[in-house]
Amino acid sequence: MQDYLKHFPDQKGYFGEYGGSFIPPVLQAEMDKITQAYFHISKSHDFITELRSIRKHFQGRPTPVYYCSRLSDAYGGRIYLKREDLNHTGAHKLNHCMGEGLLAKYMGKKKLIAETGAGQHGVALATAAAYFGLECEIHMGEVDIAKEHPNVIRMQLLGAKVVPVTHGLKTLKEAVDSAFEAYLQDPVNSIYCIGSVVGPHPFPMMVRDFQHIVGVEAREQFLEMTGELPDEVTACVGGGSNAMGIFSGFINDEDVSLTGVEPAGRSLKPGDHAASLCYGKPGILHGFKSYLLQDDQGNPQPVYSIASGLDYPGSGPEHCMLKDTGRISYTTADDKACLHAFYTLCRLEGIIPALESSHAVAYALKAARENPEKSILVNLSGRGDKDIDFIVEKFGTGEEYLDS
Ligand SMILES: *Cc1c(COP(=O)(O)O)cnc(C)c1O
Repeated sequence: MQDYLKHFPDQKGYFGEYGGSFIPPVLQAEMDKITQAYFHISKSHDFITELRSIRKHFQGRPTPVYYCSRLSDAYGGRIYLKREDLNHTGAHKLNHCMGEGLLAKYMGKKKLIAETGAGQHGVALATAAAYFGLECEIHMGEVDIAKEHPNVIRMQLLGAKVVPVTHGLKTLKEAVDSAFEAYLQDPVNSIYCIGSVVGPHPFPMMVRDFQHIVGVEAREQFLEMTGELPDEVTACVGGGSNAMGIFSGFINDEDVSLTGVEPAGRSLKPGDHAASLCYGKPGILHGFKSYLLQDDQGNPQPVYSIASGLDYPGSGPEHCMLKDTGRISYTTADDKACLHAFYTLCRLEGIIPALESSHAVAYALKAARENPEKSILVNLSGRGDKDIDFIVEKFGTGEEYLDS
């Protein structure tokens, strides 16, 4: 695994048999241009210097690594958090959106285009667009617009145009089609910005590279705090960007085990969860090959999780390869375990985590109970402010979810 990042993906964007690019020729020509520009620009002194400065002065990096003493006392083990919730805008997504925005600026683009489901990617991208003085167009299903009103307001305040998508189920899948269509109308002046380590090459590689900072910082910070590396590193997996970010910092350390946590939702019946690496089969969706939750005809299945940022039927191609090679293990946490972890972190540590990140915390609590000798580093991908109205309305202040 030496020099891992240099060897994966290969020149065509494959991680083993996964990834690649399954898109119409017009779009392929544009992706090839982005790939070439990325290889050229991202290695330049100016680009690296500017991105470093943005990370420090605008995003507030490095984010801390924090030792959870009350949580560790209660559950055993030594539990640490990488605090991506303290990154500007409250989650890790800004790490790749600022990278994509800076690349767009260097390529001379005038507009950033993307789709958004719950609105988290839309808000992060709108933030990047405002910072760089670029136009921003976010395609969002009408159903999601109604559900995620605060994020719609945020995007508008940041100067983005939110385009309602009114056909089909009016959610994420239609929004993807709509955003691609808008992008194809003017690929010279605009760039399509994907929100995770998914989509056709070069996005899984680019987004991972922009998230790599999380793992680099965390490894250095953990070593400095404890004098050793963690026994285990864990993160939640939707598309897989926050997980790839932290895991990539430890991938050459063979003694550090890496565990991705997928949402087991309300049951393991089709449509009730979104654990594609654990229960999917290889297939193609949105222009790349990955483990996919699909029916017998190969159509993507409906997915569900209490954390809307995790409900994607596919998964990053790099995760698929690392699952097959065994370098990363994948497991699940269900809605109930997620809520227990959410309320427990609030009460014992004074940190309100995102429901997405709570899945990784849930796994850490279980692993700490099973092995009290262990040190575990959790990527706390985001803060939970976005989730509190929903949670309190549905589950109250959580007494029944806390250990008595
Ligand atoms: C979007 C989101 C995720 C899931 O995306 P990944 O690409 O799997 O990281 C996780 N946590 C938070 C807070 C998010 O907003």
